[in-house]
Amino acid sequence: MFDTVKRVFSKSDSSEATVEGHVIPRAEHGISRENISDNALKVLYRLNNAGFEAYLVGGCVRDLMLGLLPKDFDVVTNATPEQIKGLFKNCRLIGRRFRLAHIVFGREIIEVATFRGHHDPAADNANSLGKASEHGQLLRDNVFGSIAEDAERRDFTFNAMYYSVADFSVTDFANGRQAIEQRQVELIGNPEVRYREDPVRMLRAVRFAVKLNMKIAPGTADPLKPLAHLLANIPPARLFEETLKLFLSGQGKDTFVALHDYGLLEPLFPQLTPLLADPVSKEMQFVLTVLANTDDRVNSGMRVTPAFLYAAFLWYPLEEHAQKLQAEAGLSPHDAFNIAAGDILHRQTQRIMIPKRFSTVIRDIWMLQHRLPRRFGRRAYQMLSHPKFRAAYDFLQVRGETEGGKLLELTDWWTQFQHGEPGLQKKMLTSLRQKEGSSSKPKRRRRRADPAKGSSDAQ
Ligand code: ATP
Ligand code: MG
Repeated sequence: MFDTVKRVFSKSDSSEATVEGHVIPRAEHGISRENISDNALKVLYRLNNAGFEAYLVGGCVRDLMLGLLPKDFDVVTNATPEQIKGLFKNCRLIGRRFRLAHIVFGREIIEVATFRGHHDPAADNANSLGKASEHGQLLRDNVFGSIAEDAERRDFTFNAMYYSVADFSVTDFANGRQAIEQRQVELIGNPEVRYREDPVRMLRAVRFAVKLNMKIAPGTADPLKPLAHLLANIPPARLFEETLKLFLSGQGKDTFVALHDYGLLEPLFPQLTPLLADPVSKEMQFVLTVLANTDDRVNSGMRVTPAFLYAAFLWYPLEEHAQKLQAEAGLSPHDAFNIAAGDILHRQTQRIMIPKRFSTVIRDIWMLQHRLPRRFGRRAYQMLSHPKFRAAYDFLQVRGETEGGKLLELTDWWTQFQHGEPGLQKKMLTSLRQKEGSSSKPKRRRRRADPAKGSSDAQ
């Protein structure tokens, strides 16, 4: 154990209560300025020189203590947003829920927040700075406070450590260093109250446990299942942002499995989750393979799009719904599929917003699954030059790996065709035609065959 100096912080002018912080001196925390962004250091020094307190806080201090490279650096200060703006030409004030300053250095943005305080729920009214909903959820949170109050407002104990360049110490308000040593994800305060205030903390608990290879402390884990339903009260736009962090940060597969175990997937993907009850089902295998491939891409610096993931999460719900529409409403496979695609996306966006630029790609990937089996004449060549061919082919490949049979044959055909010389491509098309026993142009009725069934419709 390290020796730390305990320092007592007052909570606010009107309150007698105090909070203890453990001051960890420079020699004992191993954080070096070399690992801190120069721009973040500039912001800290300028605030200090103007007479304000300023600290690095949150994920960056946690990651530095863990010996990881932080992905961004957040600063907190006793300067108000307007005072911050007065100090930096390159400053933008943003946010409604949290009013923040962004200091812009080319591509790097240093986020600077003013210490946040507690708000008095009794004082809530339409114009108050802080506001809570009937579920205990905080809707606005703009009351300024002291560093001690700011620490209490933070989510996990390891996220309430403050690094100062005035003396290079870390002030630890909630035994965050101990949590790091014990590799525990632990909420500050009463877990149920903290989850009710902001149910997204449930997703964050799981995300940090996976990312940092830690365990969720029992008291922090126990309320997850019973309170999972509260995620339905979160605005869909915020959940979209959160799912990007959950699934596109390089540990998407493990995060998905952990969310499923804690019952947190249901409120996010109510159409998919019922299909995942059996861990060896094709639905589960398909989704896990797509997540594993996404992780590989992220971890090797390749581009990823949330559209591919959402297309995968919703593929089997779509197939099921399309088949139902076809059987019950007597629709053609083509019409049933189009209507089902609209329904499935609409239902999903009740929970998680999907920006239009992604939903159009999701529809393209789905629609191309139906076109990939139809390869006669110019169609195969046209397909190769479709802007979403690559994504659709990758998608087909995972379907093929998952289901085998004709889908796998179709995948192999496209693998060979796209890389083949023109001569080989021509031969492939000729032999396909012979195999399928058709020498005429595609007939109209073929458009009505069920293209979802792999190459059953291969012309
Ligand atoms: P990372 O950026 O690595 O995902 P982080 O901990 O920095 O992790 P951010 O979302 O960047 O996460 O938030 C910065 C800090 O703000 C957190 O460390 C935490 O102290 C505080 N914070 C963020 N979200 C919440 C929340 N929902 N409730 C309470 N505090 C929060
Ligand atoms: Mg962060």
